[in-house]
Amino acid sequence: MPDFLSRHAEAYGAYPRKAVADSGYGSEENYEFMEANDVEAFVKYPLFHKEQHRPFQQDISRQENLHYNEEGDFYVCPIGQRMHNIGTFSRKNENGYTSYITNYEAQNCSGCPLRCVCYKGKQGNRVISVNHHLRKYKQRAREKLLGEEGLTHRSRRPIEPEAVFGQMKFNKQYKRFRHRGKDKVNMDFGLFAIAFNIQKYARMTA
Ligand code: SF4
Repeated sequence: MPDFLSRHAEAYGAYPRKAVADSGYGSEENYEFMEANDVEAFVKYPLFHKEQHRPFQQDISRQENLHYNEEGDFYVCPIGQRMHNIGTFSRKNENGYTSYITNYEAQNCSGCPLRCVCYKGKQGNRVISVNHHLRKYKQRAREKLLGEEGLTHRSRRPIEPEAVFGQMKFNKQYKRFRHRGKDKVNMDFGLFAIAFNIQKYARMTA
């Protein structure tokens, strides 16, 4: 996504004001890039749809459903125990982007009546791992996606790009590039896109 948005900036002299994308693009790295470049993100993240449903919301084994006390930096487990911060570690992805993950541990899970549904480990206490940076981005994305404008973008997104891919791949059987190499593939797809748009324009003005 950063690459795609940067090419938009190179071509048009500015980043787009808004970006609409499906959940595959909802990563910390992408959200951060959009925020840094003032791109309003209507971008889903994995589990966005699942978390709107009751079974997910009632699943106490999901750390997303535990209460977080920001001031005290602790989570509250389903039975009401505090889960304390036991340390933060970093993780680099294949692009070299570093994320920071914090672990929180429950105080004593032995003999807990909720253990079978909350924590399936045989020994020790439940530990959850949280990426707070991503958690905040997801919270903001959720508010946007569930708002009026977000609903409009979400209803249009599957129609606009997905329908075009369907027409390209199935109606026109454009399933493989005919050339090899980046420049030739650009030319290959560019010509196809020009022809596609001319046909679309002709239909609209007929
Ligand atoms: S199993 Fe542990 S973390 Fe889960 S409710 Fe019981 S004490 Fe809390």
